[in-house]
Amino acid sequence: MAEHEHVRVAVIGSGFGGLGAAVRLRREGVTDFVVLERAGSVGGTWRDNSYPGCACDVPSHLYSFSFAPNPDWPRTFSGQPHIRAYLENVADTFGLRPHIRLNHEVRMMRWDSGELRWEIETTRGTLTADVVVSATGPLSDPKMPDIPGLDSFSGEVFHSAQWDHGADLRGKRVAMIGTGASAIQIVPAIQPDAGRLTLFQRTPPWVMPRMDRAISGAERWLHGKVPFTAAARRRLLWSIRELQVSAFTKHPNELGLIESIGKANIGRSIKDPALRAKLTPSYRIGCKRILLSSTYYPALAQPNVDVVASGLKEVRGNTLVASDGTETEADVIIFGTGFHVTDMPIAERVVGAGGATLAEAWKDGMQSLRGATATGFPNWMTIIGPNTGLGNSSMILMIESQLSYLADYLRQLDVLGGSVALDPRPAAVDAWNTRVQERMKRTVWNTGGCTSWYLDANGRNTTVWPGTTAEFRRATRGVDLGEYDVVRAGAGRPLVRQRTGDHDRVVDRESV
Ligand SMILES: Cc1cc2nc3c(=O)[nH]c(=O)nc-3n(C[C@H](O)[C@H](O)[C@H](O)COP(=O)(O)OP(=O)(O)OC[C@H]3O[C@@H](n4cnc5c(N)ncnc54)[C@H](O)[C@@H]3O)c2cc1C
Repeated sequence: MAEHEHVRVAVIGSGFGGLGAAVRLRREGVTDFVVLERAGSVGGTWRDNSYPGCACDVPSHLYSFSFAPNPDWPRTFSGQPHIRAYLENVADTFGLRPHIRLNHEVRMMRWDSGELRWEIETTRGTLTADVVVSATGPLSDPKMPDIPGLDSFSGEVFHSAQWDHGADLRGKRVAMIGTGASAIQIVPAIQPDAGRLTLFQRTPPWVMPRMDRAISGAERWLHGKVPFTAAARRRLLWSIRELQVSAFTKHPNELGLIESIGKANIGRSIKDPALRAKLTPSYRIGCKRILLSSTYYPALAQPNVDVVASGLKEVRGNTLVASDGTETEADVIIFGTGFHVTDMPIAERVVGAGGATLAEAWKDGMQSLRGATATGFPNWMTIIGPNTGLGNSSMILMIESQLSYLADYLRQLDVLGGSVALDPRPAAVDAWNTRVQERMKRTVWNTGGCTSWYLDANGRNTTVWPGTTAEFRRATRGVDLGEYDVVRAGAGRPLVRQRTGDHDRVVDRESV
């Protein structure tokens, strides 16, 4: 990296969010940008999660970019290698490689109020940027629970997102900790190899049958030759999920019917009443993410599998002790314990106009304007920020909406001209979050009787979007300048010192 390098836009991360932002920037005619990625290749989630059985749980024709359809998806729910290859292909097809800086971890970003730009410190040097697009992912930093005695365990220990491909599970006593989206894919994939597989389950998930099948050669041919057919398929998949939203957000009681399908899915494979009772959730379906698998329950019914209906409390040498006192001997421990979601790790590394980090600004919970920008952090935008997650549909839809917002944000900066930054007004951020939280009250995520990773330490749901993806698209179609303070560098104009939240800043409040 050249000394004193300056770019218009610095994108952080090269998953769907970062690569999507790069494509969008090029389409907007912005070529002065870099994509900073801490790893040695692109792909984000789909590079890191290489565990056996890893696949998407939203059909591939919807879980892909609208601007980069792939007629060749091999299965309705394609596996990790194909999704990773798709993202590598996006980087090539859209000419993104010259912009991508691999092995560049962003250590710190500081807003320079004098120069109106971000100073970005990476593991390979420093650069500055007018605008930062943080696409570091909602599920990119694995969460390992702090288990007393884990150090005393002599076998292999790893997280699902950091799979140890050198670990040979054949004939071993394997403990799988957790029953989330990754665990339910891992269990059926490793059960035939493991000598004994013990699943530690704090709360059973709702698992629905997964309608996975190979996409036929004829379908692929048709989608390649007549692209309209792939677009129609995508639209159908999208519409079905849009229609489901009101049950999640307004009428959770309607979900009872879906629960009966979930119970039938358990009953089909699990004949032992005691095991069936352990695996049957006692909260409303949808409160936690609904999982899809047609192989999970059959795997749990196998004679080499035990389900401990309790979390892992302690490790004593090779003995794993559950909270209910159950003791299990193991050779390998696999943590399927999720990610740092509501405590977004990148927030520790962003220092705003007032000198505080975003993590400090968010100490009582994450909040942003339209899932993108945060007061006191001018020209800093996050992709998949607070309350942009989905319980039932493709995150790519949300990412693309945020990319439209980014494009308009840059256009607005151009129109305003000169050295200028936008900082969301506290009142606008408050109004947005009040609306979001008001709508959240009736949703299944808040009323369904479970605790989930959607909720932060204060029990607030700062993760999920309580509406349809179409509503979010409308809300992010363009930037409403009335929601922003326009911040200008000196330039001979009278500047106003404003008190905002807990810090001062210099503002040239324009009548916009
Ligand atoms: C196993 C698994 C399955 C999933 N399945 C689905 C699904 O079926 N449907 C769905 O909608 N969603 C799914 N998700 C959610 C998924 O994370 C999102 O759909 C999407 O891939 C997120 O893309 P992203 O670019 O925002 O983040 P990521 O893909 O996580 O990419 C973030 C990138 O930022 C980089 N990065 C982070 N910090 C730094 C730093 N400080 N400096 C430089 N680079 C940094 C990371 O290395 C990474 O490459 C799944 C998630 C997981 C973990």
